[in-house]
Amino acid sequence: MGHRVLIVDDSPTMRRIIMRGLNQAGIPVSEFTEANDGLEGLAVLEKNQVDLILSDINMPNMNGLDFVKAIGESHSAPPPIVMVSSECSEDVMAEAMTRGAQGFLKKPFTAEKVMEVLKPFLD
Ligand SMILES: [Mg+2]
Repeated sequence: MGHRVLIVDDSPTMRRIIMRGLNQAGIPVSEFTEANDGLEGLAVLEKNQVDLILSDINMPNMNGLDFVKAIGESHSAPPPIVMVSSECSEDVMAEAMTRGAQGFLKKPFTAEKVMEVLKPFLD
């Protein structure tokens, strides 16, 4: 059994890179779902069972911070959310955590870093 992972990023290339990072880290994934922004991410969550969410921060329509907040408001037991971003100031990380994110993976990342950050959320 692998993990069902939702990747939310407005760059298709970055979504590919994140998928490859999980594969290179040896994380078993049974299903990848993708979304372009927070709004699409919410729609995916309505229709799909997801074990882990990896979300960009800077996106059109609904950014990652608002996405995390919206999930917290609409789901009683949401899957863990890990932000994946190059926007890694203390302020932004603190804001993401306050809104409900549980981890932070900085771009660019190595396979080792992917495993280190995601390990607590994989069982
Ligand atoms: Mg972006």
